[in-house]
Amino acid sequence: MAKNYRAEITGVFGDPVDDNPSCVLEEAAYQACGLNYRYLTFKVTKDDFDDAMHSIRALHMKGVNLTMPHKINVIPYLDELSEAARIIGAVNTIAVQGDKLFGENTDGKGFVQALKNEQISLEGKNIVILGAGGAARAIAVECALAGASSLTIINRTLSRAEELVNVLRAHTKADACAVAWESGHKIPANTDILINATCIGLMPYPDEQPDIDYDTITANMVVSDVVFNPADTKFLQAAAARGAKTVTGLGMLACQGALNFTLWTGMEAPLALMEDALRKEFEA
Ligand code: NDP
Repeated sequence: MAKNYRAEITGVFGDPVDDNPSCVLEEAAYQACGLNYRYLTFKVTKDDFDDAMHSIRALHMKGVNLTMPHKINVIPYLDELSEAARIIGAVNTIAVQGDKLFGENTDGKGFVQALKNEQISLEGKNIVILGAGGAARAIAVECALAGASSLTIINRTLSRAEELVNVLRAHTKADACAVAWESGHKIPANTDILINATCIGLMPYPDEQPDIDYDTITANMVVSDVVFNPADTKFLQAAAARGAKTVTGLGMLACQGALNFTLWTGMEAPLALMEDALRKEFEA
């Protein structure tokens, strides 16, 4: 049989992108599954984005992740969008399906899956989200589609929270409200799941934490962070100290990577191995 020396190419387009760790988990998964796939980190500026998008077909790539600043600008290039990507208005994953480019947003789906893996359901839950940026938007929409009862979006810039609430009201059945972030913000007592969807606490500022009244966190709450480096953020440490169950951003990152792996290969992803690869990477 003729040998095939051609690798299937996947990767990420972004700028800045040098510190994006997705290659760690995807490459670990490809190797573990014996696949001749590669995941490359491509610096793609806004000016070069059009050329980069044409290269997907020219190079016969399997798929691409998108990060800053391309998640919204990519939409006109795509032939089809998932329901969530359409509602969120942003795409973080392209899968090449025949001659079509399919756009998905796996950030929020990864978050929901990470909770499911901890036996936490979203059905009928009251969710409070700190932040209204890209990650918050993806998480809020997926939580609402997964049956959350209410979503409270607390954001420093109120107009951004209001914009997200309008999207939730227009496309989902969940109750949604926008709240301006006050210093020492009190978390409502009926909150089931509290999520930090801001970048506060991310390296190189691991000592920072969201400005909330930590004494309003109770042992009945699940508290989750999107920040994955470090995984055990000050925010989660403070929540755990008050008895809350905590879920790290590492789980979300690994789960969205696993969803991408499946979209590109058609195979089930080795999730535990991917999580392990990430943990080792950040401990190093
Ligand atoms: P955006 O820039 O789109 O949004 C940032 C959000 O954080 C905004 O709501 C912003 O408020 C808020 N914010 C930033 N600084 C402060 C502050 N000092 N006080 C109060 N609010 C603040 O970023 P993304 O949503 O794309 O990313 C957010 C985080 O999510 C990043 O750390 C990223 O690494 C992480 N992430 C994790 C993933 C995972 O798989 N674990 C996946 C995707 C992202 P305002 O609107 O007022 O500016």
